[in-house]
Amino acid sequence: MDTYQKLCDGIYRIRGSRSNIYLVTEPVPVLIDTGMPGDEMVILQALNELGFHARNLRMILITHAHLDHVGALAAVKAATDARVLASTHEKDHIEGRRLLCSMPREGLGGKLFKCMLYIMEKYVKKYEPVQLYSAYSETDGTGRIDGVQIIATPGHSPGSLSFYFPALKAVFTGDALTGTPAPGLPLRAGCSDYARSLRSVQSLARLGADRCFFGHGEPLVGNAAPSLRELASRAASLPEGKGLEKVVDLGSSSPTRGKNGRKS
Ligand SMILES: [Zn+2]
Repeated sequence: MDTYQKLCDGIYRIRGSRSNIYLVTEPVPVLIDTGMPGDEMVILQALNELGFHARNLRMILITHAHLDHVGALAAVKAATDARVLASTHEKDHIEGRRLLCSMPREGLGGKLFKCMLYIMEKYVKKYEPVQLYSAYSETDGTGRIDGVQIIATPGHSPGSLSFYFPALKAVFTGDALTGTPAPGLPLRAGCSDYARSLRSVQSLARLGADRCFFGHGEPLVGNAAPSLRELASRAASLPEGKGLEKVVDLGSSSPTRGKNGRKS
């Protein structure tokens, strides 16, 4: 099986075991998330097959510090020496001062999920800590690194970030949205704060992105904006989304699903 899939010019999906890992190659190679422990093999192989030397990887942008997104971070960082950026809210987890699974989860379902994750992290798939190059705080007012716009989209986790590449009109949402089984709002049991996650959808909808890449499931590789506005409108209509400003102009055109996409 191929180690990667070209989604559009400049954007590739690397076949991680549990979540989507993305490589943006323009203007310089940047990785978004690193999948589970062990996924470093496929990441490094994909870089090689695409003709990039591992040391050419400029940055690793972390959407959030759940194990299926930072599991291979230490190994990829060691092989590439790329700079790592994540939220300041999740710095302690990534740098090993707190367990990844100690982040809050909503409701009984979330608490049970957390117990399962504890066992996984302690005994099955150990996380190796990594020092961040940069910890993004939404109060910094910077919001940009190497031309990439950083958008705080908390709620799924306390420090969830999304990354917008203006030249490609592409946004990478991590789990602030899901692409499985279809583009949708995050699941409550997976969230640290569901109401906040619904507010974050409004920030994503306002970007007017043409392409949207989720942490799980199939991306929207064209005309993503109407779908994002529809999701924001759905978020605003939920009881937890009460008081959210409705996103206007839903548009009428339907999105284009990823070609040759796979389910994950
Ligand atoms: Zn997650």
